[in-house]
Amino acid sequence: MGKTNHEPLISYARAANGDVASIHDVPSGLACACTCLACQEPVIARKGAVRRWSFAHGADRPMPCEWAAETALHYAMKQLIAEERRILIPQLAISVQQKTSYGETLSKSKTFPEQEIALDTVYLEYSVHPIRPDVVAVSNGRKLLIEIVVTHDVDETKRTHIKKIGASAIRINLKRFERTVDRDALHRLLLESCPEKEWIYHSRREELAQRLHAELEVEVAEKERAHAQRIAERFEQKEKVRLKVAAPIQHEPDIPFSDGSVMCFRLKDEGEAYIKRAPSGALTLEFSNAASIDMSALINLNARRTMEPRLWNLSEASLVSVIPYLNNISSSTTNRTKKEYMAARYSLTSIESKTGA
Ligand SMILES: [Zn+2]
Repeated sequence: MGKTNHEPLISYARAANGDVASIHDVPSGLACACTCLACQEPVIARKGAVRRWSFAHGADRPMPCEWAAETALHYAMKQLIAEERRILIPQLAISVQQKTSYGETLSKSKTFPEQEIALDTVYLEYSVHPIRPDVVAVSNGRKLLIEIVVTHDVDETKRTHIKKIGASAIRINLKRFERTVDRDALHRLLLESCPEKEWIYHSRREELAQRLHAELEVEVAEKERAHAQRIAERFEQKEKVRLKVAAPIQHEPDIPFSDGSVMCFRLKDEGEAYIKRAPSGALTLEFSNAASIDMSALINLNARRTMEPRLWNLSEASLVSVIPYLNNISSSTTNRTKKEYMAARYSLTSIESKTGA
């Protein structure tokens, strides 16, 4: 029996009726009438008082049955699933992420907890082309594949096939377990514990993720709206502050340009804005190129406004739309203005201070 001492202890074997039997369920010796689940040769049940109970091949076997213990454990788990026809499935955690237009990453996740489900039908070693999962079950009309890993793991090829098939699949990892683990422990593993189980694939993951993503998109849109609102408010706030602190117009003597303008500003896009003295003596603001700026603001400024503070009556909206253009006065214009007006104190900010007043 020297050789068999090195053989891992075999705890399960095929009984005469075809079932997978635990060493605890059969009579001792050859009377167990069992065969090895790996090589199909007869085995004896060693149920002595000293050593741990196990099945053993005959002493005359030329070489040890290499995978007997692993195969036995693999079969035991499969048979248990077929007998119990239920399983505690692991939780399903789904999370999605999306970046907002201003660079914030938002995420949303949902976890479906562990849950015991009934397996209405269980097939062992049933082919689902092109693979042969350890267990093929049907639960609530949906196919569930179960892979039991003792030594050989589920490789990438198989994982790819499972995804293509589109059926949910669970991997039960028995690598950590002793080959001699008893039925009670396997039972607990099947129905009470999930650390050794993982989803290889979940047929509804994609659909659930899409649903979650749709929810996230609503949040992203909401965040982007709020962000735009904040920017707009900050801009308005800034303008208001500037309007308040800007210096009042100094009534220096007006020295006109050759075209009659008293002041000229180059606009950001194209064209120029002129401050002119009307025959009535009132100052007006005119634009050389109407197409480059907001039309309503232009009309307000050009047709009806004068530099007399009490006559300025711009709506805040039209004022805000014009300010970004007027604020971009080129340095050459500034220099020209400075030169021609010497100590003139007319400035656009002072005009704004009056428009906002
Ligand atoms: Zn064998």
